Amino acid sequence: MRIILLGAPGAGKGTQADSIKQKYPVAHISTGDILRANVKAGTALGRNAKTYMDAGKLVRDEVIIGMVEKRLEEPDCKEGFMLDGFPRTTPQAEALDKLLKKLGLALDAAVELEVSDEVVVGRLTTRRGCKNCGEIYNTVTKPTRAAGICDKCGGSVVQRDDDREDVIRKRLAVYHEQTAPLIEYYRAQGILVTVDATGGKDVVLKTLEQRAAR
Ligand code: AMP
Repeated sequence: MRIILLGAPGAGKGTQADSIKQKYPVAHISTGDILRANVKAGTALGRNAKTYMDAGKLVRDEVIIGMVEKRLEEPDCKEGFMLDGFPRTTPQAEALDKLLKKLGLALDAAVELEVSDEVVVGRLTTRRGCKNCGEIYNTVTKPTRAAGICDKCGGSVVQRDDDREDVIRKRLAVYHEQTAPLIEYYRAQGILVTVDATGGKDVVLKTLEQRAAR
């Protein structure tokens, strides 16, 4: 399985990827997670990316493309992969096409998770994450048992710097302007699959399985 998960921040790309992984253990490549790991480790890449991330802006294409190229060459990608949060611009999509061609690979689907801006703002302002293990919580739908403490590892559970409402609005504007055009890009390639992102945590897995059975 080689797929792309497309959708606004907060559409649930990570959640859908987690559910797919339970059944198809392919590599889950989240460019946001790779960048956050670099920020946490204090690498040069992380220090540079943090400024963009905190402002809700996209990190430069060359940086992201280089990062994904390296990642796709790792052995765990041989059996397949899910790209979560990449590509986010037309140059990134074109670079991915070029790279896959070089590797002799093709995408099975580009899954668009459709969701309204207001649902996104509601989901992200209440989203929290464990600083230690990355487990995701929500103050309304999945609160921690003890306030601010991770149920799984006891780490501290905090709000992401870019999950403040002003930054979320900026990220949404960037999505509509720079990433939404990719929907037409993949429709033109005949691999676009549109899914209602309010349809539950297994909705992408179910849709892909129904499609494969046809
Ligand atoms: P995410 O966790 O996917 O919402 O990503 C968090 C932030 O990381 C984004 O708001 C961007 O600043 C940066 N980022 C992640 N993926 C990309 C990408 N493909 N291109 C540019 N910036 C990215």
